[in-house]
Amino acid sequence: MSHDNRVHVRKGDMVAIISGKNKGHKGRVLRVIPDKSRVVVEGANVVKKHQRRTPKVMQSGIIEKEAPLASANVMLFCSKCDRATRAGTRQLENGRSVRACKKCGEVIDR
Ligand SMILES: [Zn+2]
Repeated sequence: MSHDNRVHVRKGDMVAIISGKNKGHKGRVLRVIPDKSRVVVEGANVVKKHQRRTPKVMQSGIIEKEAPLASANVMLFCSKCDRATRAGTRQLENGRSVRACKKCGEVIDR
């Protein structure tokens, strides 16, 4: 497994958007694009796209799709603190190290 420090969130993380036109939006990370330091967040940065008819896609027309946004614009969202937060690392009793909210210690990794 490769680890990339350029993107501080992972697929499935709950994040809050902290700047740009989607500021304040919360959603799950659908996709991480480490090469471009970008993430796709559920319901954020939705753009209308023209869908061409292909053998796979039977219907053509305009679809709405989340476009990637800069990972620097998102922060992990802690449901316990109810705010955007930074993640620290916490060692569990079994030796596994997980990400946890720096403020309240709530474990982020499941
Ligand atoms: Zn917290």
